[in-house]
Parts: sequence; structure tokens; C-alpha cells
Amino acid sequence: MLRAGARSARAPSVRPIALLSSRLSTSPVRYTESFSPNSLDTFTEEEEMLRESVKRFATEVVGPKVREMDEKENMAPEVIKGLFEQGLMGIETSADHGGAESSFTSAIIAIEELAKVDPSVSVMCDVHNTLVNTILRKYGTKEQQDKWLPQLSQDKLGSFCLSESAAGSDAFALQTRAKKDGDHWIINGSKMWITNSYEAEIFLIFANVDPSKGYKGITCFITTKDVGIKIAKKEEKLGIRASSTCSLNFDDLRIPAENIIGGEGNGYKVAIEILNEGRIGIAAQMLGLAQGAFDKAVPYTYQRTQFGQPVGTFQGMAFQIAQAAVEIESIRLLTYNAARRKEEGKSFTKEAAMAKYWASVIAQRVSGQAIEWAGGVGFTRETGIEKFWRDSKIGAIYEGTSNIQLQTIAKIIQKQHL
Ligand SMILES: Cc1cc2nc3c(=O)[nH]c(=O)nc-3n(C[C@H](O)[C@H](O)[C@H](O)COP(=O)(O)OP(=O)(O)OC[C@H]3O[C@@H](n4cnc5c(N)ncnc54)[C@H](O)[C@@H]3O)c2cc1C
Repeated sequence: MLRAGARSARAPSVRPIALLSSRLSTSPVRYTESFSPNSLDTFTEEEEMLRESVKRFATEVVGPKVREMDEKENMAPEVIKGLFEQGLMGIETSADHGGAESSFTSAIIAIEELAKVDPSVSVMCDVHNTLVNTILRKYGTKEQQDKWLPQLSQDKLGSFCLSESAAGSDAFALQTRAKKDGDHWIINGSKMWITNSYEAEIFLIFANVDPSKGYKGITCFITTKDVGIKIAKKEEKLGIRASSTCSLNFDDLRIPAENIIGGEGNGYKVAIEILNEGRIGIAAQMLGLAQGAFDKAVPYTYQRTQFGQPVGTFQGMAFQIAQAAVEIESIRLLTYNAARRKEEGKSFTKEAAMAKYWASVIAQRVSGQAIEWAGGVGFTRETGIEKFWRDSKIGAIYEGTSNIQLQTIAKIIQKQHL
């Protein structure tokens, strides 16, 4: 079965999103045409079907590998291959470019469902879709889209290279430089903390072409790895250990001028706008993580008896479980609200920051409680509950720390009142 519009004759076994995409119209906000949601957790039939198929993939293909990938700090190649074969690496990409041509909410659903099983796999899919593909879809020329998007839908993993050792929250302090050399640019510098970079073949690199202009010199370049990108270090981490996070060195990378995305000096705009959207993806990752921890621990509390009754039915436990369910619901609504607002073309910066901030708080809280609900068993690696807690910490750090989210929310509130 071929993906709608796919250019290759490669025929993987299952292509659920491709099947769905053939039934979708081409409008980017499809659900408004025939579907008016009554609540934030009302989804189109296509979105529901997508959720089911990602859930099946996550449970059947990813699930059995989660512990080994975490222990080995390595993403299994068959999981990466599976993500592509399932059509999950070009969710919003047009069928012409080999994608599923689906909605932003569909991407959010996929990220959430993957995170219920493994937040590492979820972030691989998230960065590839909501950052890399979206930059090309939004800012790429037709030629750039024709060249890069089919590869990114088909089998080439992408990474987004903005952060550096001295440029984290203050991302635009980046020191990587690009100098013009005829019809090429020569990039020198280094990047730090780059997700997917160990396995990636396509890199979006932010470099300053004119430091005298400050952040207005920042420019986004696209390139393949074989121009000389070097992995300097693969980080050993507390959580999302199967997701690669590397430092990269660039020594005289020679990039054709046609590989600038979004225009010279516009990289800061590209990064800001894309990270605003990307934050909804991280909120979805944290939402899935919280639900995954909850779903693992709660059934255990009804099986485990102490003092002659299931431990989950003691009021002290039952109320904690109820409270956690409310908290998960709150981040579900924040996340889907931000996603729908983005799809409808409404402002969503504040809502995305709120969703990302609060989802990371709740994911940490619920996954921590889930360990306690399962007692000693929860503290062992065998159940996988403790992994959710380790994985939850990153939600408050990447794509803008919690303080940066609060700063964004505060600035918007001040703008309304000062
Ligand atoms: C696992 C992982 C994956 C990542 N993936 C990527 C990736 O794919 N691509 C990429 O480009 N980057 C990536 N990053 C980088 C990530 O976005 C940065 O780590 C993050 O933005 C924070 O920067 P920092 O680590 O330098 O912390 P710092 O900016 O040094 O922050 C340290 C502390 O100071 C606080 N702080 C900083 N400034 C302020 C302020 N103005 N007001 C209040 N408090 C402040 C922060 O909230 C934080 O608590 C990744 C990071 C990690 C850990």
C-alpha cells in the first residue's frame, strides 16, 4: 500500500496515516468544514482513527523495546524505521511530498500516544514533525520543499540545531558563524543538546551571518550530514535516554546559498515562531507521559491488597488518584486548546506556553506519585513507572525552560494591562 502521493515504490506493511490521508480534503483546518467540536476532546473520525493506529504501533512495536532502549541509551533502528513506515514522520506534510497531509492536532495526538509508551520515541517524532518539517513547510521555497520534504517523510531523520554551550535560554547569543564564499556559505561553530542528531541525516543549523546586526544576522541553513558535521559527544542523561542528545562540531561546512531557509537574517523569526508551535508538542509529550504513568500504576493499586482491601480504595489513595485524574484532564484541555487555536489561525503563544509549563509540572507530579502508589514495586525498573518520572524532568527544560514559559505568559499579561 502506497502513501498518497508517495514517490517511491517502497511498500512497507502498514501505512495507517496514508490510508487516512486519502480520505482527507486539502484544507489545513479540515475539521472546521464538516466538524465543529463541542469540547476540546472531541476529535474528527480521522483523528480518532489515527489515535488508534498510533496506540497500536506504540504498544506492539515500541512497548517491548522500551526498557532495553532506556538501558542501552539507544533508539532501536526498527523503531525509527517503523515511525517512517507508519507515516508518522510527515504528518502535516502534503501528499505530494510523501506526507499524510493531516492536521496539526493529528501530530499532537501522535506525540501524546507515543509518550504514553515511551517519551523518547515521542520526542523523536515531535522534533522531526513540529520543528524540522514545519520550518520547511512554512518557510521553504517550492524548490526546497520539493527537495527536502519527501526525504523527511520517507526515511531521513531531521534535527533542529539552535542551542549552544553559551546560548540556551538566551538562544540568540549563538556563536556559530556563516561566511559567504561565492555561491556558498562556510559554517564554523558548535551546537549542544541537539535531539535526534546521532541518527539524523538532515540538519537545520542556525548561524549568524552578520554579528554586527546582532540577532538579525541569525540565518537558518539546511544540510545533510555528509558536509562534515561531527558528533562531538553523545550525552548520558537522567531521562529520555533512548533519545539522542549530542554536541556537534562544524568545521568549515560548505553549504550552497540555496540552502538558506526563510531568507538571510530571518533565522530568529523562524526559530521563535517554530518554538511557539513546538511547545504544544512538548505539552502533548508530557500529557502522554502523565497518562502513561497513571495507567500503569492505578490498576496495580486495585490488585494489590493490604489490610484486606485494595490499596487504591483507601481514601488517602483514592483522593490522590482522583486529584491526579483532574490534573491530567487540565493539561489535556490546555494542550488541545492551544493546538486548536493554532489550527484556527488564532493567537496561541500564551496558550502554548501555559500548556507546556503546566503539563511539565503535572507530568512530574503524577509520575512521581505513581511510583509511590505502586510502593516498592514502583521504585524498581521492572515496572517502567520510575522511567516516566525520570523522563518527566526534561519537560521543564527543553524548548524553553519553565521560567521562560512564565516570562512569556507574564509579558503577554503585562502588555494587556500596562
Ligand atoms: C535532552 C535535551 C534535548 C534538547 N534538544 C534540543 C534540540 O533538539 N535543539 C536545540 O537547539 N536545543 C535543544 N536543547 C536545549 C534546550 O532547549 C536548552 O537546554 C534550554 O533552552 C535551556 O538552556 P540551558 O540548558 O542553557 O539553561 P540556561 O539557559 O542556562 O538556564 C539555567 C536556569 O536559568 C534559568 N533562566 C535562564 N534565563 C532566565 C531568565 N531570563 N529568567 C529567569 N530564569 C532564567 C532557566 O529557567 C534555568 O532554570 C535540548 C536540551 C536537552 C537537555
